Amino acid sequence: MNDQRQHHIFGPVPSRRLGRSLGVDLVPFKTCTYDCIYCQLGRTTCKTHERKEWVPMDAVLEELKQKLATHPDYITLSGSGEPTLCPRLGEIIERIKAMTSIPVAVLTNGSLLWLKEVRAAVALADVVMPSLDAGDDLLFQTVNRPHPEITFERLVSGLEQFRREFTGQYWLEVMLLAGHTALPAHVQKIAHWVQRIRPDRVQLNTATRPPCEEFALPVPPARLAELARLIRPTAEVVAEHRARTVPAGSTASAETILALLRRRPCTVEGIAQGLGMKPAEAVKLLAHLESRGRVHTERQGSERFYRATTSTQGQTPSQFTPPGVAVKAAKP
Ligand code: SF4
Repeated sequence: MNDQRQHHIFGPVPSRRLGRSLGVDLVPFKTCTYDCIYCQLGRTTCKTHERKEWVPMDAVLEELKQKLATHPDYITLSGSGEPTLCPRLGEIIERIKAMTSIPVAVLTNGSLLWLKEVRAAVALADVVMPSLDAGDDLLFQTVNRPHPEITFERLVSGLEQFRREFTGQYWLEVMLLAGHTALPAHVQKIAHWVQRIRPDRVQLNTATRPPCEEFALPVPPARLAELARLIRPTAEVVAEHRARTVPAGSTASAETILALLRRRPCTVEGIAQGLGMKPAEAVKLLAHLESRGRVHTERQGSERFYRATTSTQGQTPSQFTPPGVAVKAAKP
């Protein structure tokens, strides 16, 4: 089980699909059923299909309660790995709903939806966002590198069955990669499965953040738009998020930034938008973290992303937060 002091809540992060999303992490770093070549968190260190209480649930919910004042648009179960590996997922969603009226989203790779108990738990959320990145087993193995217990057949049958049982919003994400899946013949195979799965929305994405493997290449926006037309209902290319006004009174600190960067590499602009900070304040705290070796930068295209260094995974960020660096958020 994880260190009780570890931060399990991160953000809010600016999400292209959910606005300002407050993340809830239910597994330790890179505990997942997959090892996707495009993963922004690096290679999976614990590839598993074992469902167990990986982190202390009461501590997670207590931490979440403290963060509700950040007024996110969604509370999203996601983060360092696959949230459906938590067997108390349904209870957690129920307890969040008893705490707040903010809608709950589950960001899942969908690999365990073939299990009845997983479908029952996930169905308590308002929005469920699974992934389908391949149209056949060969590319599924190549792109997602799943645990041997997770077959392509189980994946698509779980996705289909869940639609029959779930009446909430069901948004299927398809991650396309140049040289792998971004080919018309392959997208047509994915389109075949989309017809059977019948999600409310299909959202095309690509590797816009630094990926785990260098050969996971992004697809240019114009090409994504062309490929989107091969899918019915027409897929939407997930647009860059534009932040809405952040409520006054939010606070952000080096600890908060580090908790965010452990789950998602971000640009200065992304950090500032999500956490409601002035970019200059974010830069100041990032410089401090970088000088202590807690974060480093990577280029992806023309953008510079900050990422938590591997040595900070599983540590308590307060150990390296200097006194007096908490920042008052920018007013709207
Ligand atoms: S992208 Fe998501 S599903 Fe794939 S390895 Fe990373 S955490 Fe797991």
